[in-house]
Amino acid sequence: MRAQPPASHFIDGVFHEDVEGAPFESLYPATGEVIARLHAATPAAIELAIAAARRGQEEWAAMPGAERGRVLRRAAAIMRERNRELSELETLDTGKPIAETLVADAASGADCLDYFASLAADIRGDYIDLGGSFAYTRREPLGVCVGIGAWNYPIQIASWKAAPALACGNAMIFKPSETTPLSALKLAEILSEAGLPKGVFNVLQGSGEVGAALVSHPLVDKVSVTGSVATGSRVMAAASADIKPVTLELGGKSPIVVFADADLDAAVSGAILGNFYSAGQICSNGTRVFVERSVRAAFVEKLLARVAKIRLGDPLSEATDMGPLVSEAQRVRVLSYMWLGEEEGAKLECGGKAAVLPGMVEGFFVQPTVFTDVRDDMRIAREEIFGPVMSVFDFDTEEEVVARANGTEFGLAAGVFTRDIQRGHRVVAKLKAGTCWINAYNLTPVEMPFGGARRSGIGRENGRAAIEHYSQVKSVYVEMGQAASPY
Ligand code: NDP
Repeated sequence: MRAQPPASHFIDGVFHEDVEGAPFESLYPATGEVIARLHAATPAAIELAIAAARRGQEEWAAMPGAERGRVLRRAAAIMRERNRELSELETLDTGKPIAETLVADAASGADCLDYFASLAADIRGDYIDLGGSFAYTRREPLGVCVGIGAWNYPIQIASWKAAPALACGNAMIFKPSETTPLSALKLAEILSEAGLPKGVFNVLQGSGEVGAALVSHPLVDKVSVTGSVATGSRVMAAASADIKPVTLELGGKSPIVVFADADLDAAVSGAILGNFYSAGQICSNGTRVFVERSVRAAFVEKLLARVAKIRLGDPLSEATDMGPLVSEAQRVRVLSYMWLGEEEGAKLECGGKAAVLPGMVEGFFVQPTVFTDVRDDMRIAREEIFGPVMSVFDFDTEEEVVARANGTEFGLAAGVFTRDIQRGHRVVAKLKAGTCWINAYNLTPVEMPFGGARRSGIGRENGRAAIEHYSQVKSVYVEMGQAASPY
């Protein structure tokens, strides 16, 4: 088995196996080959991890922030040293091309660890002068945090949750998606090697059932989930029983608006990046591309010429642009939307089918797909597909396009392409989305908060904003005179 880890879980600083847990396999999506066999966490493993995390958290929180930062910085350095090995593992587990994983996965995890390492020494409260007496605030950790990941960016998601949680002095139990269980174990190993005390970062495998057991565990203090809206809603309901805070990074159906004055080549690049990178399996993808009518034909012509050049192939080859989808289930889902688009009357400009590649006939490949003549009420225009399917719409006025771009239950991201600086800012101010780009798309530097509005989520990852979601403020009043009572 090409990627078999030493054991399924990582608990209290060591790999841990429990063969009583339900067995499951991890597949290489390009060939369907089994690359690892694991077991889901049993209730006993969950209890072990919770107890370890509670012990580890006390020790970790008692360390100065600067020392916590040093551990995270060492982990970032190890991740960078092992980028090639981690990227190959991520490619095997997700099917994403190595050309992407080398620059976007472990690399962005390392950036995140570095960034929160630099903030760790400076997590502090405030002083409030009350004229004689005074108050101060302490920014304290929450305790044991649970992180639950989706399958599209496994090590990035694990790092985006672990880095701020750990910087603030929390412990974490991370449950990766059952579809991509492997790289979170590498993160645990690396953190441990960097000097993280035992129990501070644990990994438990399993399906949504294990996630649900963690969310409702009374000794868990916070939950952060990246996943679908349906899962986010279930997690929020379960967490509400104990008033646990939640961060929810959920799905989207984001708009990209291209005005006639835009640099059309740049706009085409943004649309390609926002629809076909990671075979379209990105939550913030701009899958509704609105193009001003006067440049629509030119835009579509440039777009199709470039999409035709996308090289599907073996994800482990650096020449490959687009790999397979993550699983057969995801392929069936995406193909069903491709068929639905045609059925609904949209014009299929390219793609629309499964792709069968020589030597990888069992792989979960689909063709990059573009629909034009899409109406706002079609299901392909309203529902998250999570595959390489772009819908192009025409528009005439700024007011109209803002209303249509906002005509969705989601609010994760949005992009605007224009050379008019005032229009760029005016339009993003009106777009109902948590993250917006002007003349760019899908760039998520760790310094910038990331997260959704409306049904796309609650809370923010990255940036200083993440600190607020992994810590709590304690206010302390200090009496400098005599305590008095009215009776
Ligand atoms: P799911 O919602 O199916 O799963 C997300 C995670 O939650 C998985 O680890 C899953 O376990 C777990 N889970 C499922 N049910 C429960 C439950 N009741 N309680 C606790 N945990 C549970 O999403 P996918 O993995 O299919 O990922 C795709 C979705 O994620 C898309 O909608 C996409 O938009 C969204 N996403 C959002 C991002 C963002 O930052 N906003 C980024 C990336 C993806 P398992 O799958 O192992 O059963």
